[in-house]
Amino acid sequence: MAQPCGKFPRVETLEQLVERDRTHDCEGLGPHHICVRVEAVAKLPSRFGTFHIVAFWNNRDGKEHIAMVHGDVMGHQDVPTRLHSECLTGDVMGSLRCDCREQLEVALGKIGAMERGLVLYMRQEGRGIGLVNKVRAYALQDRGLDTVDANLALGFRDDERDYEVAAHMIASLSVGSIQLMTNNPRKIEELEKLGVTVAGRLPHVIPANELNRFYLETKARRSGHQITFDGKPHLPEQDDPVIVEGED
Ligand SMILES: [Zn+2]
Ligand SMILES: [Zn+2]
Repeated sequence: MAQPCGKFPRVETLEQLVERDRTHDCEGLGPHHICVRVEAVAKLPSRFGTFHIVAFWNNRDGKEHIAMVHGDVMGHQDVPTRLHSECLTGDVMGSLRCDCREQLEVALGKIGAMERGLVLYMRQEGRGIGLVNKVRAYALQDRGLDTVDANLALGFRDDERDYEVAAHMIASLSVGSIQLMTNNPRKIEELEKLGVTVAGRLPHVIPANELNRFYLETKARRSGHQITFDGKPHLPEQDDPVIVEGED
């Protein structure tokens, strides 16, 4: 398996990654030979803390993935890291069909309050099926198809790529090892197969607070967050079920 990390000349700052990667083109990771390179870096102060945004190009699907970097991660071990799959309806529109916005905000908030950390924002809308197909799946669910049928109708997602892109991004950022924020041990295995050293796991627990109380109460009224408003199973968008504090 390719190990892009070893091929990178050492640089000191995130900004220098852009110059370093200008001609980067390795054999890539995994069966899809995913290679990414850092294209642009800027400060991104946010309500969740001080971050840099690192924009990546990739050689496969033209998606522009990003890393939200807090503190000094380059050359460091045990860097707290969260992988988040893009969900326009949840992350931006505040959809209650999924947990994505909660998951993202809690991850950014937690990592923003730590000494250092990373949120990798993977542009894999609708678990890789795309936005239009995701809305089609919602429509199928509205018409009474369950998750399995909706998935069958739309084709299954190829979720290997998330990990290949993420593993390369972590290597590109010269991160030595990570503490993965996840409730899904399979994620750790997948990343380790791709050469990422996962030194530990941080459980991803969502606390109930003023901001999410309405959402959590809504979920509770709908009898558990794996169930939609119609009492049907969710089409899960993050491959990582959350744990809500004080609920079980
Ligand atoms: Zn590469
Ligand atoms: Zn979502």
